[in-house]
Amino acid sequence: MKRAIFPGSFDPITLGHLDIINRALPLFDEIIIAVGINSDKKYMFSLKERLHFIKENYVNIPKIKVETYSGLTIDFCNKMDADFILRGLRNPADFEFEKAIAQTNRKLSKIETVFLLTSSDTSFISSSIVRDVLRNGGDISSLVPESVSKK
Ligand code: ADP
Repeated sequence: MKRAIFPGSFDPITLGHLDIINRALPLFDEIIIAVGINSDKKYMFSLKERLHFIKENYVNIPKIKVETYSGLTIDFCNKMDADFILRGLRNPADFEFEKAIAQTNRKLSKIETVFLLTSSDTSFISSSIVRDVLRNGGDISSLVPESVSKK
């Protein structure tokens, strides 16, 4: 069973995340979207809201599960019996950051990180920009799925 973990903060989930998940679907038997809980991080949306935004998009897709986790991603992979971590790459900054993490994870475990390049029409989207637009009263409907924008 080819099972991948797609870890992230998803604060909130964006069309960029959906693009990566949807394109990874044919590659894996199961994808677990793993919402990180980090007590040092200040989130705009509660864990309950972040989970709800994700789940609404994938209610009818049995290959996709949604879980929460804290601690090391590789420990969570082992717990869920997943051999792969899925990540999206938007730009060179993402690449440098992700390279170090993926190589560290590979050193500490046998887990492979699989990268998908973002689609050109969603590569500029980030959760932090979405939060900024929201804070300033802007319209986020072209950046996020309906589950988020209708809130
Ligand atoms: P983290 O805090 O772990 O970076 P995010 O929720 O910001 O969590 O991102 C989770 C994953 O989704 C990362 O691999 C990130 O590169 C990817 N991602 C975020 N936005 C986009 C986007 N617009 N296009 C493709 N991948 C994206």
